[in-house]
Order: sequence, then C-alpha cells, then structure tokens
Amino acid sequence: MQGNEPPKKVLITGITGQMGSYLADLFISEGCEVHGIVRRASSFNRSRIEHLRSNPDIYGRQLFLHYSDLDDSTTIRRILNRVEPNEIYHLAGQSHVGLSFEIPESTCQEIASATLSILEICRDLKKPPRIYHASSSEVFGSPADFPQNETTAFRPATPYGCAKAFATNLASVYRQAHGLFICNGISYNHESPRRGENFVTSKIATAAAAHARGCRKYLELGNLNSRRDWGYAPEYARAMILMLQQDVPDDYVIATGLLTTVRDFAMAAYREVGVDLAFEGAGLSEVGFEKDSGKVLIRVNPHFYRPIEPECLVGNNCKAEEVLGWKPSTTAKEVAAIMARAAYNFLDR
Ligand code: NAP
Repeated sequence: MQGNEPPKKVLITGITGQMGSYLADLFISEGCEVHGIVRRASSFNRSRIEHLRSNPDIYGRQLFLHYSDLDDSTTIRRILNRVEPNEIYHLAGQSHVGLSFEIPESTCQEIASATLSILEICRDLKKPPRIYHASSSEVFGSPADFPQNETTAFRPATPYGCAKAFATNLASVYRQAHGLFICNGISYNHESPRRGENFVTSKIATAAAAHARGCRKYLELGNLNSRRDWGYAPEYARAMILMLQQDVPDDYVIATGLLTTVRDFAMAAYREVGVDLAFEGAGLSEVGFEKDSGKVLIRVNPHFYRPIEPECLVGNNCKAEEVLGWKPSTTAKEVAAIMARAAYNFLDR
C-alpha cells in the first residue's frame, strides 16, 4: 500500500475454506481490507479463520464477514454493491470430486450456476472488480495430452469436472464478450494442514498422527496406485493473487508437474511421525504395515475407489512461471510431512 491510498478491498467467497483462509492471511498481512462471504450453518464453522476473527485489531477493522449462500444471488448482489471490492476471489462451492458423484445436482448448482450469477452481478456493477475463478485440473478429466497446459482440451470425467468446465468456459466468455477482468486458475490438487477432513491427504495425515500416538487401528484407503499432482496450498494462494495483478487477464495452470502415488504420500506422512511403512500384496488385498511391529495400518477398501479414475492428471506450469514468476517449491512428500506433523502437534494439544 502506498502513501494515503485507501487499502485494496478484496472479497473472498469460501473464506472459511482451506484456500480462502490462506488468502485472508496473505491479504491481512499486506494491509488490505478483506471481506468474506460465510454461510449460516447449525454449527459455527470458522475454525480456519478463527485466529483472525478473534483478533480485535483485525476483526471489524480489516476483516469483515457477510452472511450469504451461493444460491442467494440477491444477497450477494447487495454485498457486492455495498463493499465495492477491487478484487474478488471466487472459491466457494462443493470441492470434493468423489462426493460429486453422490450429490451431482447441488455440486453443479454451487459450482456452475452460482458462478454464472456472480459473473452477471459483476457485469452490472459500475466498476466491475477483477475476478479470480477457482477452476480445477478436473476439467481435463481423461486428457489426451500429458502434461496438460492452458490449451489442453477439456474432457471432464466427473460431475465436479463438468461443473468446473462450464464455469471456466463461462469465465472466458465473460472476459471476451463483456470485457471483465477475470482469470481462471486451473489448479491441480493443493493440500495443507487446513485441508478438509474427508480428503485422502488429510485422512492419511490424521491416521499417521493418531497411530504415532497409539490411538488408532488401521486406515482404509481406495486405490493406492492413484497418482496425483499434489502441491502446497499456501503457495497456490500466492499464484491466485499474482494472476489478478497482471495487466491483462488470462488463464493459468497451477501445478507442480510431478505425480506421486497415494502409497508414497502415505509412506512420507507416516515416516514424519516415526513410523516406517511397507506394503505387500496387490490390488484389493494390498496392505500397508509397520516394518517394526508387522502391524497392519492401511487396508484397501473398494468403497473409496472413484467410479472413473483420472488418468495422469499432471500440469505443465511453464506459463505461470514465465508470466507470473510463480514456481512451486514444496514437493508432495514434503506436504505429506507438513500435514502429518501438524496433525501430530494438534493431538498433542
Ligand atoms: P474447501 O476447503 O472445501 O472450501 C470451500 C469453501 O466454499 C468453504 O468456505 C465453504 O463454506 C464454501 N461453500 C461451499 N458451499 C457453499 C455455499 N453453498 N455457499 C457459500 N459458501 C459455500 O475448498 P478449497 O480447498 O479451499 O478450494 C477452494 C476452491 O478451489 C474450490 O472451489 C475448489 O473446488 C477449488 N479447487 C481446489 C483444489 C484443491 O486441491 N484444494 C484444486 C482445484 C480447485 P463452509 O466452510 O461453510 O463449508
């Protein structure tokens, strides 16, 4: 922030989520005014931003929360008119790919239709803000190119991927047709200790920590050979911000370019908390056991297999590096270690 310039105002949908909370941390530390949309639930879900919310120097001065829901476009319009943000980070929505097979309608409403509403609202504003749209590598689904880049054709293979593909295409159309400054961040999986509990990386980190504390039997996982391009979430938050600081809006693949199996991720997580894992068997009968004791700690359960397993979703981040100067520096195994250590320390407390 320069001289007497008013602070930049940003609005984050999904501020209570993993990425929204990291963005809020970054913007607060840069002196920005941060507005977040939160939804009403029967239990109070602010744990990821509680450190900001409970700070009287921040909450009500730099951080402001507004109740709404993605299906409440009237309220979102009112908030946007009142706040007049310079930048919007649109992150909210059902973010679990596997779950999108069980709840496809609400997934599509939250991801696809809600994005359309937000774009329409922004289009009507006197001074439309710059917009970041949280797209996903799932738009590529079963891709023809490896690794994928910004020109790879969309071939989504999940309801989540279809909804993200719709919203991503729409964002490009609004950029071209209505001149909105909008960027699609086509992000591959990014993980951290703030990842939701029902994601495989969190399950692994929590189970590793629990086992190291002597309080769990075994963990059930799906396909151990599944490979993912896993990065570290705080680094991905930085990429999102960089996109909106460019002179022209564009789309960027945000990825590490490296694939790691679920098995290797698990080994790294358990190793971090002092447990050496080995695996034996294959397919559904494969098990992971502690080398020292021989105790079985991981079993395969087909219930956790995806109906369609993504094939080689791995991103080419050259454009992000060239234009944004962004490069990931944390490997998937390091992310696994960070998550397991955090879970272990959490159990300590
Ligand atoms: P997340 O932790 O699941 O956070 C999702 C956020 O959306 C939460 O704040 C949630 O609120 C909010 N939300 C969900 N439905 C809503 C609704 N109907 N109305 C208002 N708010 C709603 O996800 P994330 O990891 O931060 O990811 C952020 C975005 O990036 C998502 O759109 C995700 O699909 C996309 N993305 C993520 C990854 C990744 O690996 N993390 C990769 C590619 C794309 P509650 O806290 O109340 O539930």
